[in-house]
Amino acid sequence: MLTDLVQIRRLGEKKRDENLQFRKYLKTHDWVERQFRHAAQEVQDAIDCRLCGECCRVTEVQLAERDIEHLAKFLRIKEAKFVEQYTMTGEDGEMILRRSKEAGCVFLVGNECSVYEARPGNCERFPHLLRGSGSMVSRMWEYVNRATYCPIVYNWMEAVKELTKFKKPGTW
Ligand code: SF4
Ligand code: SF4
Repeated sequence: MLTDLVQIRRLGEKKRDENLQFRKYLKTHDWVERQFRHAAQEVQDAIDCRLCGECCRVTEVQLAERDIEHLAKFLRIKEAKFVEQYTMTGEDGEMILRRSKEAGCVFLVGNECSVYEARPGNCERFPHLLRGSGSMVSRMWEYVNRATYCPIVYNWMEAVKELTKFKKPGTW
């Protein structure tokens, strides 16, 4: 299982076109999704997110009303104070957790989340392999990019290529 973040970045970018083709391949055939879920569970069980934290450095976390309630309660501050101190406006104008390009999420300490028990739903579900709306195949467009930084997604994509006997470019 590959977990080195530098390698994941390099290989995920290198395989971007291949992964886009893989997405097309999945969409044009019928699959039993259970095998993809099983592979996702295996990869998730084998990778310890506490040693990684890359999604917290890379992604914007969109907030729902209940996330703000939970986090404000956890931090024992008023919701208005939480919004003022810990949120900002994301690229698409939505409210997101405060973050910086250099350090990532405001709550990231080392590789760990300092508000883990009250982390937003989007963080809890990330990388949205086992929990997400729609089928895994319909969510493949998100995974091509995530495979450039998330070890779980990268390894899962490679496992599913094997499972589905996807012929990589250069092997046709
Ligand atoms: S709240 Fe925690 S899990 Fe979510 S992005 Fe920030 S550090 Fe990561
Ligand atoms: S979900 Fe992926 S990117 Fe985030 S901590 Fe886990 S392995 Fe790393």
